[in-house]
Order: sequence, then structure tokens, then C-alpha cells
Amino acid sequence: MTRRRWIADTYAPVDGHPTTAALTGDQALHLARVLRAQPGQIFDVVAHGFLHRAEVTTVSESEVRFTLHEELEADAALPLHLLLAVFKFDHLEWAIEKATELGVAAITPILARRTEKHLAQAAAKRAERWRRIALEASKQSRRTDVPTIHEPAPLRSALVGLDATPLRILLSETEQTTPLAAALHGALQANTTDEVPATALAIGPEGGWTAEEMGLFTTHAWQHVTLGPRILRAETAAIAAIAITAAQLL
Ligand code: SAH
Repeated sequence: MTRRRWIADTYAPVDGHPTTAALTGDQALHLARVLRAQPGQIFDVVAHGFLHRAEVTTVSESEVRFTLHEELEADAALPLHLLLAVFKFDHLEWAIEKATELGVAAITPILARRTEKHLAQAAAKRAERWRRIALEASKQSRRTDVPTIHEPAPLRSALVGLDATPLRILLSETEQTTPLAAALHGALQANTTDEVPATALAIGPEGGWTAEEMGLFTTHAWQHVTLGPRILRAETAAIAAIAITAAQLL
């Protein structure tokens, strides 16, 4: 049996190996009211990025506390950071959910030149909602961690922040030569360590990247790759790119 996993809202100590954890808010309400959790019951709880067997100590509708027992084996997230241009929110939210299921470690929403103005203006207020979506998708897919959803950022600063990431790949609908799988294959051949190289993937908005943005990627030594001759919706491109990367890297 695979137990459902709960991701702790708080745990202590915050540094090192936590020994206690708590679920609060909606998670506590659900455990208390719907699942009628009782002291002594055993759950699987993720705290500080690690999965633990956990015993309920106290239950209220606002907080369920646990003592953490042994650590359990858990799969790590893919070392994959997604730069996702902000596009229509319903499609973007869907992409965040799917990227989380597929295992990405982090997502930075990018305020691209062709991100529609009203979406760019509303993006900052949406980040919390996107984090909730990522949390729910993490639970649903039994992830042991929640991807980091960064604050929406302009492309320039996001690129500077990723200069140290070894593999940097721009999904470009105008690139015709290098398929994503070939670029990853080449990078793996050149990799002399036994670690999967941390990778960043960038997906443009519905209108695509501007020439200026493409140039910025080139300046930061991102490799331009194609997913084939068809123009994909941004969310389709994101899912395909993550799946291909996971298949090649892991
Ligand atoms: N405005 C463009 C389409 C943009 S698609 C047009 O209509 O011509 C949105 C994003 O999805 C692109 O910026 C790119 O990152 C990605 N994408 C879509 N199709 C792709 C393909 N065939 N190869 C690589 N990336 C693609």
C-alpha cells in the first residue's frame, strides 16, 4: 500500500532533523473533520524535504500535531528549473499543475515582452494561488517536496540568476536544427560526473519570444532547441519538454 503523503506546514527544529511537525489550515481541517484523525494514528508526513512515518499526537480543526518517527525512502525532484512565460492564467495554472506532477524542482513565471499587459500586472498577486496549486499537485502525485514557485520576474533578472546552472535550454519555435533530445544527449555525453546536471528550460508566451529576448538568451549561453516542426501551445511545449528531459536525464 502506498500511503497518502502529507506535507507539513510547520516542523521543528527547522534546521537539521525535525522531530515534530504540524499540519494547519485546510489540511488540519480535512484531517480532523473528514478523516477524523485520532492521537496514535500513523501517517506519512514530509518535513524539511524528507518523508517520515509520523504519529498523531494532538488533533484540532486548526492544527494536527505529529511526532516524527523513522525517515522513509523517497524520490527526489528532477533537478529541473522551468522558466515559464506568463500566459493565460487558466492555461498557466494547468501547466504548473502538470509540471509539478512531472517532478520539476522550481518554476519562475516570466514577464515576457509578449505577456499580455493585464496578465503581467496581475501576476504578482497570483503567485500565492500558484503555490497552492503546486502544493495540491505535489500531494496528489505523492511528491515528497513542493516545487518552489518564485515571484514573477522579468527575463533579464531570471537569466542572471540561472547563469550557474550547467544546462540551460531555450525552447524555440523558430529553431530548426537541434532537437531537445539531441541537445540533452550531447550534454550527457560531455558530463564526466555521476550526477544529473541541473537543468533550466524556458518556454515562451502565446505570442512567442521577441528577437530581443532570443538575443538575451544567447548572451547568457542558452542553447536553442526545437520540439519539432509543429507550433505547440506553451503548456503543451512545457509538458513535452519536461517529459523528454526526464527521459533523457534519469
Ligand atoms: N507565437 C508563436 C507560438 C508560440 S508557442 C507562433 O504562433 O508562431 C509558445 C512557446 O512554446 C514558444 O515560445 C516556445 O517556447 C514553445 N514552443 C512551441 N512550439 C515549439 C516547438 N515546435 N519547438 C520548441 N518550442 C516550441
